[in-house]
Amino acid sequence: MLREALYPTEFMARPSLKQFRRIVVKVGSSLLIDSEAGEVRAAWLAALATDLARLHSEGRELLIVSSGSIALGRSRLKLPRGALKLEESQAAAAVGQIALARIWSEVLGHHGIGAGQILVTLQDTEERRRYLNARSTMAKLLEWRAVPVINENDTVATNEIRYGDNDRLAARVATMASADLLILLSDIDGLYDAPPAGNPDAKLIPIVETVTSEIEAMAGAAESELSRGGMRTKIEAAKIATTAGTHMLIASGKIEHPLQAISDGGRCTWFLTPANPVTARKRWIAGSLEPKGTLTIDAGAVAALRAGKSLLPAGVIRVDGQFARGDAVVVRGPDTHEIGRGLVAYDADDAEKIRGRSSPDITVILGVSGRAEMIHRDDLVIGPSGAPSQS
Ligand code: GLU
Repeated sequence: MLREALYPTEFMARPSLKQFRRIVVKVGSSLLIDSEAGEVRAAWLAALATDLARLHSEGRELLIVSSGSIALGRSRLKLPRGALKLEESQAAAAVGQIALARIWSEVLGHHGIGAGQILVTLQDTEERRRYLNARSTMAKLLEWRAVPVINENDTVATNEIRYGDNDRLAARVATMASADLLILLSDIDGLYDAPPAGNPDAKLIPIVETVTSEIEAMAGAAESELSRGGMRTKIEAAKIATTAGTHMLIASGKIEHPLQAISDGGRCTWFLTPANPVTARKRWIAGSLEPKGTLTIDAGAVAALRAGKSLLPAGVIRVDGQFARGDAVVVRGPDTHEIGRGLVAYDADDAEKIRGRSSPDITVILGVSGRAEMIHRDDLVIGPSGAPSQS
């Protein structure tokens, strides 16, 4: 009974990879690096790259979160076995990351796909301004059909201020990039209802509709050799991803062509979300941010916004409040009626300087070529009758 209540999977459809437009694939060190030889598992990686290239050629946007810098650095430096001290792992990562970036650049380049390295810290994903910068770099790479290859910046991340695991990092990257799917390639093929090692009755859960406390308890109970330590951070990742409207799946990366296997209906655990990244982000903008200022716009801009366009500086007639780039602001029409809310791309001083001006003037006024939009349409929520819900 409990089991049926928890996962009545026969009633839920398993999604297909074809449904997803922007996919983050997380590859762990144990898959990428042969622990004996300390080198990259070249044949496996080449097979994975073929899977990635196929998804890319179908028009999907891909981001990779790759671990392996510390493991690779350790072998390149011929460091003895055993635990590394923090400064040793930071220095090993400095060596390994160069090798890691080169490997990804080569395997993707083999398929004519450009790779761009992005190293992020916890602050880059938590502080609004840095978050927006990382987000727009990713967006630009994707627009150019390149693949961002992301890792934690381990050389500068210390224990108190680091993710430490790339599962949660990948989930934050997926939400930052508004990805609609996060794939965690793991050394286990999914979440089991009991520790799978030595337990023939343990069942793989194909679909998790909601990450309940029962699901969390399963991750805690999974003490098998295969899932030790790793399932807890994967469930944390599932919570981050699904709350932000990103579906997630855990699948085995131990086989060759792991993404092809998922497409072919292979074993894995899906974590579903009822939302999608755009609606989740818009709900967050509309409901949970404290507006720091107000932009009053002209009638032409009101019509443009209602038609789904971005807010350009030319349409802004008045700027009130002290806000920073990335803060939430209220947008009002010429009669001060609230039209919506959004995340503003300029701080209050710059917004004041460029209001009412056309985009080519902005470079001259600010001395730098900034963003064309005052508020990008992805960062804007227009209320149905003027004001968005405050719930
Ligand atoms: N960022 C670490 C590295 O590249 C790995 C973290 C993890 O394995 O989850 O070595």
